[in-house]
Formats: sequence, C-alpha cells, structure tokens
Amino acid sequence: MSETALILWLRRDLRLGDQPMLAAAVASGRPVVPVFILDPETEAIGAAPTWRLGLSVAAFAKALEGLGVRLVLRRGPALEVLRALVAETGAGGVWWSRLYDPASVARDTAVKAALKGDGVEARSFAGHLLHEPWEVETGTGGFYRVFTPYWKATRGLGVAAPEPAPKALRGVERWPASDRLEDWSLGAAMNRGASVVLSYQAVGEAAARAKLSAFLDGPVARYSEMRDYPGVAGTSRLSENLTYGEIGIREVWHAGLRARDEGRAGAESFLRELAWREFSYHLMHHTPQITSANWRPEWDSFPWRGDSEAAERWRRGMTGEPFVDAAMREMYVTGTMHNRARMIAGSYLTKHLLTHWKVGLDWFADCLTDWDPAANAMGWQWVAGSGPDAAPYFRVFNPAGQAEKFDKDARYRRRFVAELSKSPGPEALAFFEAVPRSWRLRPDQSYPKPVVDLAAGRAAALAAYGARNA
Ligand code: FAD
Repeated sequence: MSETALILWLRRDLRLGDQPMLAAAVASGRPVVPVFILDPETEAIGAAPTWRLGLSVAAFAKALEGLGVRLVLRRGPALEVLRALVAETGAGGVWWSRLYDPASVARDTAVKAALKGDGVEARSFAGHLLHEPWEVETGTGGFYRVFTPYWKATRGLGVAAPEPAPKALRGVERWPASDRLEDWSLGAAMNRGASVVLSYQAVGEAAARAKLSAFLDGPVARYSEMRDYPGVAGTSRLSENLTYGEIGIREVWHAGLRARDEGRAGAESFLRELAWREFSYHLMHHTPQITSANWRPEWDSFPWRGDSEAAERWRRGMTGEPFVDAAMREMYVTGTMHNRARMIAGSYLTKHLLTHWKVGLDWFADCLTDWDPAANAMGWQWVAGSGPDAAPYFRVFNPAGQAEKFDKDARYRRRFVAELSKSPGPEALAFFEAVPRSWRLRPDQSYPKPVVDLAAGRAAALAAYGARNA
C-alpha cells in the first residue's frame, strides 16, 4: 500500500459529508493535500457564480481547518499546478470528483492522461450526481431524451447511503505554499451588487443542511401546489448549495425519501425535481452541444434575433412587463430566481422578443449565484422550444396571464418592482443598489411602457414559427 500523499483536487464538491473521494482518502490512511485551483476554466465562469464560489471556498477552507488540514490555493492551468504540487509534496496520487460540462471534461481527460503518463495515480470519483449519466440507459442501450421515462427508469434505482463526514484528516508534515483567497479578487466583476446579494446566500455545508431540514420540516408538505408561486417561500432553495457541492445530492435524496416515508405530502414531488437536475446532466453528457447550440438542429434556421435594445431592457428589468421585470430584479437582489419566474422571463425573451436563447443563457450564467451549466442549458432550450422534451414553441406564456394565476395578490411583483408601489419595500429598492451605476436607474423614475404589446409579440413569434414550418 502506498504511503505517499494524495492531492485532493476540490472543485464543485466543497463539503465533508457525502463525499466519496474524501471517504476513500480517509480509508486509505494516506496524508492528504486538499487543493483548489483557479484555472482558466474556472476563471471563465460568470461574475456572480465566481463571487459565490469564493464564499464557498472560504467556508470549506475553514471546515478543513477544523479537521487539522489546509486548503491549498493555487492559480494557473490545472495540469501545471498539479504537476508542481506533486513535485513539491512527493504525492503519489491526484484524486478528484467528476464534473460533466464540456470544458471540465476536456480539461480532466487531458489532466488524467498526462498524470498517468508521469506515473502518478490519477483517479476520478462520483459525487456530484445520484447516478453517473452513462449508467442510465434505455432498453435499447441509448439515452433518454424525454424526462418522464427517464424518471420512471431511475426512480426505483438504489442510491448508496451518504458517507458521514470524517472526524479528522491526516495532512502532510510540510505544507506547500498557498495563495491568499483575497488576492484572487473573485468578487471584482460583481461590483457593488455583492453587498446586496450577500445577505441572501446560505454558504457552506452547515447552512445547506439547516436549509434542507427547515424545508423538509415545513414547506415540503405543500411543495406540490406552492412550488409554482414565486411570492411564497415554497421551495428548498438548495440550488446554490448543490451547484458548488456544499451539500451532497445523495444526502438530499435520502432526506427526501425519509420525508416521503414519514408521509409528508410533497416529498415525492421534491424527489422528482431532484431528478430534473439529474436529467439535465444525463443530457449534457450525451449531447454536450446542449450548452451552446440548438439541441434540435432544425432550429438553426429559426429567425432568432441577436442582442438588441429590447434585450437590454430585458436584462435591466425594464421591459415594462411587471412579472418579467420582477423576475430579473429578483436575480440582482437575491442571486437566484424562482423557477416559474425563470420560465416567464425566458419565454418572454425568446418568444415575445424573438431573441436567441443564448442571449438569455449567457446573461443568467453571469448573474445567477446558483448557475449550473446543465440545468441552465436545459432550462433555456426548454423555454425556447429548441431542446429535448421542450415546451412546444407555440405555447407562448402570457406574462400577464401567468401573473394573474401565480401572483394573484401581486406580492412577488411588488416585492421586487419599486415603481408598482407607493411605498416600496427594502428589496424593491435594493435592486437600484445592486445593478451597475452605469445603467442610471432610479426608483423615482416612472415605470417604462412595455417594450412590446403582448398580443403583437405573441403573433410575431407564432408567425416566425409558422414561416419556419411552412
Ligand atoms: P426546488 O424546487 O427546491 O428543487 C430542488 C432542486 O431540484 C433544485 O435545487 C435543483 O437542483 C433541482 N431542480 C428543480 N427544478 C429543476 C429544473 N427545472 N431543472 C433542473 N434542476 C431542477 N437551476 C440551477 O440550479 N441552476 C441554473 O443555472 C438554472 N437555470 C435555469 C434556467 C432556466 C431558463 C430555467 C427555466 C430553469 C433553470 N434552473 C436552474 C432550474 C430551476 O429553476 C432551479 O433549479 C430552481 O428554481 C432552484 O430553486 P430551488 O433550489 O428552490 O428548487
């Protein structure tokens, strides 16, 4: 058995419990060198997720300190950094938990081959998902393109119990040098928005676990009905934690199962939503182009508009359509957006404004603290109609009708759109503090006239769709 150190390359698995890689490292008895690398792939992610990642890294470093080890921080191409650390520590292995987006897969494949060529044990682990995307197959050995059969196929599959967090970790005697997190300035691109969004973040493993318990003790009971109402705190809000791996998905799944077994209504629907996350990864693995190109190539001829003044009004939460603007403003104030609101804001951009879904996908990727490469891509292609199992294009959400149905008392719209109230609340006003000063937005300005008449926008979208299919 090797006694050499193991470099544990942490990425989106910033937790101690439900961590197969960490559990295997502890079981090996070998000393560990946990490292987080700010490599070009990580530097390429958007402003809000980069900032939020920094909070996650800081929390995880603290958790590791509690177990007597450090989190070494280094910046540079991953392979170069890992090779340098192997040389400095004499480590015999580099281990990591798998990621599945195209950029990470390309990087990790190259890193694995190069390290193996160096004679270093390079090993990847599961941990980000309930099921590895290639493990779930249709009866004929293909992959699922539609959610319901995917759900039927995976619902009954066993999910291993999560490993408990280790009580102690064995570090190396001489620690390699580390960068200082502050020097990376991960929040630089967030500008002043960070100070507003900060209070909505529940960072780290303990906070995520507390949130899961609170959800399963309360809102889950009415989750099936209330998850669609953005004015109600009816969902788990775990997406920000799941995306950085601050809580393990198997832990969440088993907690959901227990809640269901205890008879809590809504728990089964919650498990189903967790499966949507899995499904998005299944799709991204089998069709990586989902992140960048129409999943259905027949959509390549659709007359999408590119960026425009109207799209800019959408980005600024100034379309004059209250439900859409509330959605966009919720994102600047809290870092996330309710699922129903994502669907409305996305539908409005791609249909009423006929704008390419990539414009929206890129903007969400820059602004969401819960940005997830698979869920964001699947969500956008779903609303646009170009994706697998997508809403048909001709089903154009009417934001006013949706508001009437899901925000009848206007609680959500008033919460985030200051111009709709005589005395706007703190969150509606916080929007003006969160957005770039260069936008020159002020709460005392009058609310804009709609960018597009809803009926005309719908008619134009359907005409474009009809022409494509003629
Ligand atoms: P809950 O309702 O409590 O659900 C629990 C968990 O299940 C979520 O945390 C999430 O991990 C998963 N989940 C729920 N719904 C979905 C879904 N439709 N697709 C995939 N996973 C789901 N989710 C992200 O995590 N990151 C994104 O960048 C993202 N972008 C989206 C973009 C668009 C256009 C759309 C329509 C949806 C997007 N979603 C994204 C999915 C969904 O909106 C969020 O996962 C959800 O709002 C998170 O809130 P919650 O944690 O309270 O969810």
